[in-house]
Amino acid sequence: MSERRGAGAAVVTTGAPDATCLAPDIFLDPRIRAIRWHDLTALRPAEVVLELLLPASLLALSLLAAAAGWLPLALGLSFVFFLSGLRLVHNAFHHALGLPAWADDGVLCVMSFVLLGSMHAIRHCHLRHHALMMGEGDVEGRSAQMPWWRALLYGPVFTTLLHTTALGQGTRALRRIVCGELAMSAAWVTFVFAASGSAVLRYHVLAMGTAHCLTAFFAVWTVHHHCDRTHYLARTLRNRFKNAVTLDMFRHIEHHLFPAVPTCHLAELSTRIDRAAPELKQRIVF
Ligand SMILES: [Zn+2]
Repeated sequence: MSERRGAGAAVVTTGAPDATCLAPDIFLDPRIRAIRWHDLTALRPAEVVLELLLPASLLALSLLAAAAGWLPLALGLSFVFFLSGLRLVHNAFHHALGLPAWADDGVLCVMSFVLLGSMHAIRHCHLRHHALMMGEGDVEGRSAQMPWWRALLYGPVFTTLLHTTALGQGTRALRRIVCGELAMSAAWVTFVFAASGSAVLRYHVLAMGTAHCLTAFFAVWTVHHHCDRTHYLARTLRNRFKNAVTLDMFRHIEHHLFPAVPTCHLAELSTRIDRAAPELKQRIVF
């Protein structure tokens, strides 16, 4: 599957027979095509380590809070951990972690165990989402067309659909990896509830399951609702505090225009886009 690495590609091919489509007009906009972005793709070693440590430290804090019985704090930390996990796997989806491809695959396998589910299945649907941009066959983007309350209720179906789509469309190699990651998750959940005797681990599994069921709303609807397929592809966020607590994950128009830029460099990319096409920051997430 090829993927648009920066603004300007006119045709996108996903590898699926029905999935060659013209790029949205915004990619042909000379203001966007003139934006410098290649220099933002490189990560310093310290930045790579920080990307890996962020979810690990938030997971530890959430488990400590759960062990101490501080449920509201634990829930807040678990949610931010889940978001940091999405940030990590999302950068791995786009090979934007500064790691070799095999290490990106390793990150997805490890995070499948921690977040539960199959991150390789989610990568398959996410790359199609970039290529098809809310068009037919974009399973990930479907909830963006729904009212907010329906996107919320759609959560469990959404998570199931991401996995069944990858299993139905993927190559034999992908299907093997997805089945392996799902089997690993199932074995882990069985152990946690049947044999571990750990209330903290049970809490973590339930928190991750709940977070997955909310992703159709907070990871898709919030960043794509009432957008279009030609110019305003996605929403963004400019408030510094909001960007800090959401780990820069809502700078989404920036990401769709230049998916090879890692999340930790999106703030600088926002500045450059604002100078070139200031209208794009009008559609904010919240
Ligand atoms: Zn992406």
